[in-house]
This record gives sequence, structure tokens and C-alpha cells, in this order.
Amino acid sequence: MVITCAITGAETTREHNPNLPISPQEIADGTYDAYKAGASIVHIHVRNPDGTPTQDVEIFRETIKLIREKCDIVIETTTGGAVGMSPEERLQPIQLSPDMASLDCGTVNFGDEYIENTWPMMQQFAEEMKKHGVKPTLECFDLGHVYLANKLIETGLLEAPYHFGMVLNVPGALPYTQDNLKYMLKVMPENSEWTVVGIGGKGAMMGVADAIELGGFMRQGFEDNIYFEKGVLADSNAQLIERAANMAKDAGYEIATPADVREIFNLKSK
Ligand code: ZN
Repeated sequence: MVITCAITGAETTREHNPNLPISPQEIADGTYDAYKAGASIVHIHVRNPDGTPTQDVEIFRETIKLIREKCDIVIETTTGGAVGMSPEERLQPIQLSPDMASLDCGTVNFGDEYIENTWPMMQQFAEEMKKHGVKPTLECFDLGHVYLANKLIETGLLEAPYHFGMVLNVPGALPYTQDNLKYMLKVMPENSEWTVVGIGGKGAMMGVADAIELGGFMRQGFEDNIYFEKGVLADSNAQLIERAANMAKDAGYEIATPADVREIFNLKSK
């Protein structure tokens, strides 16, 4: 069982959960705790000192350096960035050749806003990732995105095995039902691995259950959910990872190490 920790995100704030890691050092410390709890991939966004989201390459560089000093966890940077950022802004961390990066597979409603991911942008992002040896996680927020991810694979810009992130319950996008997830999986091509990303407290727990039942991978963390249980804020990302890892172990899964992930996804850093 591969568990990704989505440690900070772009939209979660300290007002939502005061335990949110924001500075590079806080993100690195939180990552190390999540790694010890069972995470083998960390999905990172970074912030300005005032907490606002940024794709600044120097802040990513510092964060990655601090994480690397502590452990060999697989590092996935975002290229989704935050609402309103330009493609060039969003692509900045790719020049650091992280192990993996998210690649959004279609324009998506995001609450009252939207994140733009046109077909030419998807190709541009895939080309940039290929150039830097970065494995894309094909993030799909809707069924149509899975079809578009197939079309991207047909361009030959990606190497198998493909990795999908099935994101459910983003406000304004596809709600989380197991049927919706199953339909996305049906459209996914062969030679693919998938991680379920359920947004909100209920979505996050549905994701853990469905990864166990349907044989996918899990993602947990403050980007997706700030609660440990209904009305109770999580103390840390590690607390969410630990629970997911325990549930997977109870169901008979072994927890993947970063070395396992480098093998499974055939990463360049293997
Ligand atoms: Zn993200």
C-alpha cells in the first residue's frame, strides 16, 4: 500500500487548522513525521512567509533540501499551484527534477473559482516533466479528465506505468461516490496505478476504504482534509497517515517504502 501525504496544499489555512505546516522547515519536519507513520510519497505545495500560496522555485528548493536531509521519501511537487496562477508560474518546481509531480487533466471548478487546465497546457506540462525525468501523477477531477489523460498517453509523452490521482469531492466537481470512482477506474488504461484522493473528512475516509477494497493507493493530509473525526481537528498530518496505515495493515496490506515506490513507478531516482 502506497500512502501519499498531501501535507499543506494551497487553500488550507491556519484558521482552518492551526497545526498546518507552512514554512519549509515545518513542511520538512511534518514530512519526516508522516514518513515515520507510513507515508512513502509527500505531495508538496509551498507558501510565502505570510502563508499565501506560491510556486517560487527557491522556496521549493529549500523545502526539498530540508526534506532530503531527513529521509528518502519520494517527493511529488504540485503543478496545480493555486487558483489564478499562470502555467509558467505553476511549472517552476519541475526545473528542480522532483521524483514526481501532479499534472491536472482538465479544467475544474474549485469552489467559487476554477483551475484552468486546457489540452495544450496538459501537453506543455507533460513535455516539461519528460524533459526533467519527472513522473506525472495524472490528477483527474471528473470522468472526462480520465478520457483526456488517455489522449495524453497516446501522444507518447509519458512512460508506463502511468499513475492516476482520482480526486473526488472537490466542491463544484465530481462528488465522491464509489460508483463515480469505479467508473473512472474503468476508463483508466492498462499499465496504470492509481491513488484515490477524497476531499473533506468523509471523502478522506471513503478514500482509505476504497483503496483497501479496490486495490488502489491512498492519499491523506491537510491539503485534502483537516479533521481526524467529525468536528475534531487533526493534530498533525502524521496522525492521519498513521490511521490510514493501520487500516491498510489490518486489511492485510504491507506498507510500501520509498524504495518500493521507486520500483513500482519506475522512477528515475530508482
Ligand atoms: Zn496539491
